[in-house]
This record gives sequence, structure tokens and C-alpha cells, in this order.
Amino acid sequence: PLLRLVVLYGGVSAEHDVSCVTAAHVLAAADRSKYDLVPIGITKSGTWLRNDKAIAALAEGSDLPERLEPAGTEVEPLAAIRGEGTDQAITVVLPLLHGPHGEDGTIQGMLELFKVPYVGAGVLSSALCMDKAMAKIVAEQAGIPQCRWVEFRDGIDDPNEIVTRAVAELGLPVFVKPANLGSSVGITKAHDAAELDKAVDLALRYDDVVIIEEAVTAREVEVAVLGNAAPEASAPGEIVPGSEFYDYEDKYVTGAAQLVIPADLPDDVTREVRELAAKAFTALRCAGMARVDFFYEAEGRGWLLNEVNTIPGFTPASMYPKLWEATGISYPDLIDQLVALALDSHRRRV
Ligand code: ATP
Ligand code: MG
Ligand code: MG
Ligand code: MG
Repeated sequence: PLLRLVVLYGGVSAEHDVSCVTAAHVLAAADRSKYDLVPIGITKSGTWLRNDKAIAALAEGSDLPERLEPAGTEVEPLAAIRGEGTDQAITVVLPLLHGPHGEDGTIQGMLELFKVPYVGAGVLSSALCMDKAMAKIVAEQAGIPQCRWVEFRDGIDDPNEIVTRAVAELGLPVFVKPANLGSSVGITKAHDAAELDKAVDLALRYDDVVIIEEAVTAREVEVAVLGNAAPEASAPGEIVPGSEFYDYEDKYVTGAAQLVIPADLPDDVTREVRELAAKAFTALRCAGMARVDFFYEAEGRGWLLNEVNTIPGFTPASMYPKLWEATGISYPDLIDQLVALALDSHRRRV
């Protein structure tokens, strides 16, 4: 029998649009002789819609649009995931949801509660990697080098005190980020105190915890990690931003950023980042997949961990699948491996 692969996409986070593009590509590439594909879109307001039109298109072998909007029959989440009248089939969920309420452990908790296997990191690791402040604390504990940073918690910390401390400890410019988000949404590079104040206000629109980081002058290098207990790290890839930093426009609108795969680095430096990526993956309790992002200061501190993304961009043009392609795993094979890893994690948990 075919394995039911429920693809969750869209979602309520500011990364909704990115997810819709990813879903279209994953559904188009997944092997239909192996999977009964069930796309379920979540609207920006949180309604779950089974995309019957896409299901029909997949069944008759016709093409999907470049971007799949959540549309179709409204369904109750748990019933839709389990699939009515299909109880013999094994279901695996592929949550292609970036950001809060998707990548942060909430969906993973629901799936775990109902014993449904799913791709990627579990509850703790998802929540940890989504929260940049908590992830930094755990990574530091594991001895992984990172840039200097300061945390601001709304309603707890005095904003004037934190801003003064940030400038004194980190200098200028600094990067200001909502603790829980992605796709560079809500992130500012602040060059002076006035920009810093505004940047904190912007980040606070997305989260009540904000982090302020020193702006490092470094190359940006990412590593794809795949596996469970003994994860493999891919060849590293470099991002050459098209603007002052790798912002939302650069990622999804202009596409001006360039990906250099593999990154042009000496062998020993490449080996070092692959090891660090696997170490970060394990320290943050990741499973299945993660894209581990670094800064490389050639003349200074060497490798600094930036962040770990447990549901990385996944279109064929995205860094994560491209790094695996360069390392010898094709896009459809990657989907198969992730499904196998999901079943392996599930067996360990239950
Ligand atoms: P993703 O889409 O990868 O999840 P994100 O929203 O989690 O991104 P970050 O990766 O933390 O955000 O930052 C976005 C970009 O901003 C980085 O790719 C880099 O170009 C720039 N950047 C972030 N922090 C720093 C820093 N401390 N120093 C220099 N550049 C930085
Ligand atoms: Mg991120
Ligand atoms: Mg992200
Ligand atoms: Mg990033």
C-alpha cells in the first residue's frame, strides 16, 4: 500500500508565502508511486483546508501551480491528518511550515500527542531552535562559538538600560531580531542609537523577546544536516547577499543573493564547519533535517554559529536541497530519506 504523506503548508506565521512555494515544489517532486500525497493548507487565520484540486491534479498527473494557496474543503486538523477511511495506510506528516506555529514545536506537539510520525525535529528541539535566545544559551553550553549578543524581554527589561548596554558591549552597527521568526522578517541592521530604538520596536511587533547582536564582518556559510542519532553534514554553501545583508527581498523577491556551492574554502576549514554543524544539530537535539548557518571570520574568530533552522527553505532553488544535491542526494531521494528518518524517530519515541 502507498504511504500517506500529508504535506502541511501555509500557516499563520509571517513566513506563510514562502511555505506555499515550497509545498508546490515538494508535491511536484515526491514520488507518486510511493506516496499518496495529501496537501493540507493552513490559511493565515489558521483554518485547515484540504486541497482537493491539487489532490486531483496530482492523481491525473497534471502540473501544479508554482505556488500553492491554501484552498479547498475545510477540515478538522486531527481528522484530516489521520485520514478518514484510510486507516490501513501509514501516515507521515511533512510539516512545511516555517516560523511560529509550524517550526516551533506546536504542530510537532499535536502530532506527538496523537502518535503520528512526522518529518524533522521534535517538540523541544523545534522550540529551542526557533527561539534564537534559548538556542544561543544551549549552543554556548555545548562550546559552540557564536557572536556576542544581548537579550531584551518586553515588560521585564528596561529598554533604555538594554539599549545602552548593547551599544557599550557590542558597538555599532548591531543586528536586531525578534527571537522567534525567520526569513529575515522583523530584522534590522541598526547603525546608530536612533535606528536601534526603531529596530527594537519593529522586532517587538513579532515577538516579546528581541535579541541584539554585534554585526559581524564575515562570510555567510550554511551546512545541511540530515539524519537522527548519527547525522551527516553536507558540503558547505556560501551566500553572497545582494543587499547590505541577506534580507527578505533578497531571499524571496529579487533573488539577488547568490549561492556558491560548494563554498570556496580550504579543506581543513570545510571539515571544521561540517563537524561543527553536526555538533550543533546534536546539541540542539535536532532530528531528520536542519540547516545550520554560520559566519566565517577568516582573519578573526573563525567559525561562529548564527542559527539552526529545523524547517529550512525547501524549494529546489533553496540552499538545503541544493547542498544535498551537490553532496549526492537528489531532491526526490531527499524526500524519501526524510520520510524514512521520520519513521525511525517515531519508532524510538513510542
Ligand atoms: P532564515 O530565513 O535563515 O530563518 P532568520 O530570519 O532566522 O533567517 P538570521 O539568519 O538570523 O534570520 O539573519 C538574517 C540575515 O541577516 C543573515 O543571513 C545575515 O545576512 C544577516 N545577519 C544576521 N545576524 C547577523 C550578524 N550578527 N552579523 C552580520 N550579519 C547578520
Ligand atoms: Mg532562521
Ligand atoms: Mg528560518
Ligand atoms: Mg538565517
